[in-house]
Amino acid sequence: MFGSGDADAGVMFIGEAPGANEDKQGLPFVGQAGKLLDKLLGEIELERADVFIANVLKCRPPGNRDPQPNEIATCRSYLESQVELIEPDIICTLGNFATKLLRGDTTGISRLHGQVEERILGPRAIRLYPLYHPAAALYTPATLEALRADFQRIPELLALGPLAQPDPAQPVGSAGTDAAGQRNSRTRDAPAPGSGDPLAPAVGDASAAADATSRPGGEDRPRADDPEPPGSQLGLF
Ligand code: URA
Repeated sequence: MFGSGDADAGVMFIGEAPGANEDKQGLPFVGQAGKLLDKLLGEIELERADVFIANVLKCRPPGNRDPQPNEIATCRSYLESQVELIEPDIICTLGNFATKLLRGDTTGISRLHGQVEERILGPRAIRLYPLYHPAAALYTPATLEALRADFQRIPELLALGPLAQPDPAQPVGSAGTDAAGQRNSRTRDAPAPGSGDPLAPAVGDASAAADATSRPGGEDRPRADDPEPPGSQLGLF
């Protein structure tokens, strides 16, 4: 399940992985979390056809378990290509997995949601806007309110238009390969990505504890608050 929406969208949402229904239908977010996503989009006068929605993983993890580092590694080039083709101005990462992957850092979504960062992903400068995963908001009213408030800022971010784009003649990664060895993630006006293994458990990170909340089962289980998976996956791009 690669994703769906406007291939010229200004805003791209990146979730975690398809569930069984998404896998069957070949569409992202078709369950309860998707209904909430539609509602939040509607509240800012957008609909699915205006945005592009994709996931970190392109197939459903067996048993709806967490994505594993090797699965994330297998799927990342597809996501990179999607970002390159769609050329969004804003990427909203939904929940921990997408946020950690695109930031190349273990900082949890509780700490980051609603904070815009200007980043270079592959050849493109984008505004990265981490949001809670809608599935997490289904079960927690406070999370829903935070997600709704963060969504309300999307129109103003879109109105800013695209960031100035990097000079294509400049070699990839030449202006900011970070200590974690990210291939091409430069950050402006944002904290430098942490060093070490970006998807490893965030030992001593208070947000990791705050992120590790309830995980009821089901297709739309709150993935946003999942603890970090173990593994050695380096940050995307
Ligand atoms: N959760 C996700 O992260 N992605 C989907 O497509 C559906 C549920």
